[in-house]
Amino acid sequence: MKIKFSILTILLSVSIISTSCVSVNVKDNTVSHVPQESKKPKNIILLIGDGMGLSQVSAAIYYKNAKPNFERFNTIGLSKTSSNELITDSAAGATVFSTGVKTYNGAIGVDKDTIPVPTIVEHLVKRGYGTGLVATSSIQHATPASFYAHVKSRSMYEEITEFAPKSGVNFFAGGGLKFFNKRKDGKDLLASMKDNGYEVITDKLPKSPSEKNQLILLAENGMPKMSEGRGDFLPNATKLAMEKLSKNENGFFLMVEGSQIDWGGHNNEGDYLIEELLDFDKAIGVALDFAAKNGETLVIVTADHETGGFTLASKDGDYNKINPVFSTTGHSGTMVPVFAKGPGAELFNGIYENNEIYFKMMELLK
Ligand code: MG
Ligand code: ZN
Repeated sequence: MKIKFSILTILLSVSIISTSCVSVNVKDNTVSHVPQESKKPKNIILLIGDGMGLSQVSAAIYYKNAKPNFERFNTIGLSKTSSNELITDSAAGATVFSTGVKTYNGAIGVDKDTIPVPTIVEHLVKRGYGTGLVATSSIQHATPASFYAHVKSRSMYEEITEFAPKSGVNFFAGGGLKFFNKRKDGKDLLASMKDNGYEVITDKLPKSPSEKNQLILLAENGMPKMSEGRGDFLPNATKLAMEKLSKNENGFFLMVEGSQIDWGGHNNEGDYLIEELLDFDKAIGVALDFAAKNGETLVIVTADHETGGFTLASKDGDYNKINPVFSTTGHSGTMVPVFAKGPGAELFNGIYENNEIYFKMMELLK
């Protein structure tokens, strides 16, 4: 308890300090006559740590041998994660980010009446933005699917896949090959992807981006765990996506998901969760490095919900030893942190509903 309270105290004071810093910045901008428009980003990178609550983020402090990339943010908010149900799942949790609509658990890009709602990706494709989706799950899994598909249930993987060929998404990277080419209906959706101008890559992540739209599928279903040799797929795919999408003069939107933080939580496996969390932290670092050089990119890091009721408890009453423990194999209703850095970051201060994240992003890309 003592450890937990001290973390909270630290984070709360960081948040208070950052709030005052931001208001000073805003004042400075007014004084130096920087036009309002300069506060708007050209690009947004949204990194979603599935199931990543504050204890998961805190694990980076205790288990990373260097300073976590989470500590590079100075704008921090809290998102209330409920949608139709008090405790949300990754489908409703991602649909809220992709459409702004609060819906039922299991919904992919549809509202509470199963009516499709246009996603941020679809809006931006129409406006000529570059778009990309990267995940360590299959690209048909609830979180990435909610950005390009509209189905009534998250388990409809083959139906979700049918939205990919005409999605207009310039860059997909993750797993999910079997839903393209080993389907119950016998359709070959890899051929449809190629017909729609995609380069299909199934062996390894390319070193440099190509001119063509890319579908990179490196696993039949979800990507391997970190402990099974996934290596630097997530940070490297993030880098590749940014290199490719930043060639678009209109700007880009990239969603990157650390999908398996959630899976470690469901399994109540602290090691699994922490390895995935540290990998996600690495991807955050890559995004922040790009944004620092680019200067027109807003980086947002958040979660759809918390998984596992994860806590950094003490080991046998020893307050110098951390023992990762869980209170559930499901999700919990705790608020999750939102980190933001770059033009428009100040909008993400405070406590707000999860769907505000969609509206804030759309406002900034107006
Ligand atoms: Mg997910
Ligand atoms: Zn989950």
